[in-house]
Amino acid sequence: MGVGRGYCELAESVADLNDLPVDVDQVIVAVGVSPNPLVPKSIEGLELGRKNTITVSEEMQSSRKEIFAGGDIVRGGATVILAMGDGRRAAQNMDEYLQNK
Ligand SMILES: Cc1cc2nc3c(=O)[nH]c(=O)nc-3n(C[C@H](O)[C@H](O)[C@H](O)COP(=O)(O)OP(=O)(O)OC[C@H]3O[C@@H](n4cnc5c(N)ncnc54)[C@H](O)[C@@H]3O)c2cc1C
Repeated sequence: MGVGRGYCELAESVADLNDLPVDVDQVIVAVGVSPNPLVPKSIEGLELGRKNTITVSEEMQSSRKEIFAGGDIVRGGATVILAMGDGRRAAQNMDEYLQNK
């Protein structure tokens, strides 16, 4: 399989960027590894788990029936594939909840 010339040029320019020297005094890595407590803590009546995760049922429904949650805010730091699965399940159950309302 051939690789187009445009692709090669792009790859070269990205490689150049990776080698770009940056003059700094200090580098701070700021990567979140736990859920933001702001959302769960600011919603009244929301049952929380350890580390301020949102507690949900099998249907991804929280103690506030109109709020569904999934992903890291429920699991407290997991994987993209689990978060995506939670999202699908939450969406299906939200739809059912709204249809029956
Ligand atoms: C350094 C690192 C490396 C990782 N590597 C991998 C990996 O290789 N493979 C893998 O599967 N998983 C990896 N993970 C885990 C993965 O990133 C998470 O499990 C996944 O992103 C969870 O998805 P989420 O949608 O639940 O949460 P998030 O992706 O965190 O999305 C939550 C979103 O909500 C937004 N938000 C927060 N508070 C508010 C607010 N008050 N109002 C509006 N928006 C708000 C945030 O800005 C964010 O965009 C890694 C995690 C980290 C930290």
